[in-house]
Amino acid sequence: MLGSRRSRDAVTCIACGESVPRAKAREYDKHGDRWDRRDKEFEYLCKPCHGELTHQPRSGLEDLLAAVEDEADDRDAFLHRYQEFVEQRQD
Ligand SMILES: [Zn+2]
Repeated sequence: MLGSRRSRDAVTCIACGESVPRAKAREYDKHGDRWDRRDKEFEYLCKPCHGELTHQPRSGLEDLLAAVEDEADDRDAFLHRYQEFVEQRQD
């Protein structure tokens, strides 16, 4: 049946870990521009978590996370680099 396959797709909310149908999830683009879809993998938020998001500017946090992610290949490296970046920013 048309659309039945897509409606079974589930995604995981990056905030609470709930599994939600893709059609009911909100896309989250860490680069803050979800209209540019080229070469991107989106993350997802369930509606309650999306509603709790602050929409205030985050003074470069996402840019920082993206920069750290480019340099780190695993979780430990990511956390280590992130800590270094944050400490540098506090000087
Ligand atoms: Zn959630």
